[in-house]
Amino acid sequence: MMGPSHALSGAAVWLSGSWALQQFYDYEQSPLALAVGTAVCAGGALLPDLDLSGKVTRNKGGATVARTFGVFSLFIAEVVEKVSLGVYYATKLSRDPKRNNGHRTLTHTIPFTVLVGWGTTTLCARFGKWAVIGILFFMIGLALRGLFDKWAERAGWLIVTLISAGAAVVTAANLPGDRGYPLIGLAVGVGSFVHIIGDMITRAGVPILWPIPIKRRMWTPISLPDKIAMRAGGRTEMAIVRPALTVISILASVGLFAPSLLDKFNIDG
Ligand SMILES: [Zn+2]
Repeated sequence: MMGPSHALSGAAVWLSGSWALQQFYDYEQSPLALAVGTAVCAGGALLPDLDLSGKVTRNKGGATVARTFGVFSLFIAEVVEKVSLGVYYATKLSRDPKRNNGHRTLTHTIPFTVLVGWGTTTLCARFGKWAVIGILFFMIGLALRGLFDKWAERAGWLIVTLISAGAAVVTAANLPGDRGYPLIGLAVGVGSFVHIIGDMITRAGVPILWPIPIKRRMWTPISLPDKIAMRAGGRTEMAIVRPALTVISILASVGLFAPSLLDKFNIDG
């Protein structure tokens, strides 16, 4: 899957999940909490590809998401890729092949999704609003880059960075304080997980079973068989999957907001 589809799938999953919680478990969220969760989950659905490094000094290459904050995020991607490669070699078994980069290894595993979710929750609980501002800044930037890719490309990373920072400060100021922010961590974790699934259905092998050894391999790539898998960026993704994810997001939003709007105007009596 391409970046925008990943981001869109994160948003669609968060919105439809929130709708289901409201519908079947009476779990209500404020519009702000919903918007934050959706943006963070969309950003989280791009997070695993921060392991695709480019040429930091020349400000080139890397995944789209790695260029969100210019050379700064390219540098982060470089570090993430090297750490992932280190973990690959530290845990590889005899039948795992040699690699020279860490793309689609550590950040595309279930322990990683749990780790970023738990890490985010811990940071928010420990450092409160300051952590929330930092995390929102980062995740909103990724979400903007993914959801509005053409605009972000034209606007450039500085504008994206400034808007993300502004949105993070305003949002954090309006979120209720001192309650912990478990939903932010959950959104990061769910987003990352949605990314891995997205890669798996587009023929990209993902070591989702790591660290379970199978036939002397620790990093067995798992993907759908070629026959039924989609081609990343192919016609199915562009003409069917993206529109479908958009419709799901819109329907879920309508389902979430319509009842309270109807209430406001007292339409049913
Ligand atoms: Zn990926």
